[in-house]
Amino acid sequence: MSADAGTVTPARRAELADGLARVRDRVAAAERAAGRPPGDVRLVVVTKFFPVSDVVALLELGVDDIGESRDDEAAAKVASLAEIGARPSVHFVGQVQSRKAASVAGYADLVHSVDRAKLVTALDRGAQGADRVLPVLVQVDLDPPTPDAGDGSPSRGGVSPQGARALADAVAQARGLRLRGVMGIAPLGAPPAPAFARLAELGREIAADHPGADVVSAGMSGDLEDAVAAGATLVRVGSAILGPRPPRG
Ligand SMILES: *Cc1c(COP(=O)(O)O)cnc(C)c1O
Repeated sequence: MSADAGTVTPARRAELADGLARVRDRVAAAERAAGRPPGDVRLVVVTKFFPVSDVVALLELGVDDIGESRDDEAAAKVASLAEIGARPSVHFVGQVQSRKAASVAGYADLVHSVDRAKLVTALDRGAQGADRVLPVLVQVDLDPPTPDAGDGSPSRGGVSPQGARALADAVAQARGLRLRGVMGIAPLGAPPAPAFARLAELGREIAADHPGADVVSAGMSGDLEDAVAAGATLVRVGSAILGPRPPRG
């Protein structure tokens, strides 16, 4: 094993195993409660801000999908994992700066956060440059409109619900991209369930226009049950598995 990847202590390994088991139980219970088959919901473990040694331990515990939110950190982790022959599915869940698009397009297996036409262009160019077809989701802003937002310019990323279908159409036109569905983050200070229901409905509309765009990425540590009830096909869970995030490095 490479020095970069390192290893976790037995105590940390046990902590990660516990967190993972608890979250898998929560997902399974939510699937049952919603009358959905076991395994219907994909679990992405969001490893941002945590060391690659934690990622290695999680992969050994059977995790297949990891989520990252910053290009520099994600690229470094992917490189150290490659050194030890590990190749999880890498989900890019954070906002993508246009100047980082080519880098992200080189290693991501699913970009969750396509929120503007300019980024479609940049990711498309990056994916074609890397000779890849990059699967992406359109991130929808689920925050209630704020008075000074004008066109609904988002606080935490995401195209307005009104703009989502046009953005999805733009993705579908891009040769280097493959539209896989929608992503949303629950609004701050408002109940998640109605927002997730709205996201799932938008997802159905977009999937009707674009067969295969059937992913609904919603739900995090605090609200995954609401998301699974609303029809999320993928949840993104960090702190409930890894613990509180360390300060940004
Ligand atoms: C950090 C992050 C998560 C994980 O959040 P937790 O509350 O730690 O589970 C999920 N989705 C996105 C987009 C994130 O940035």
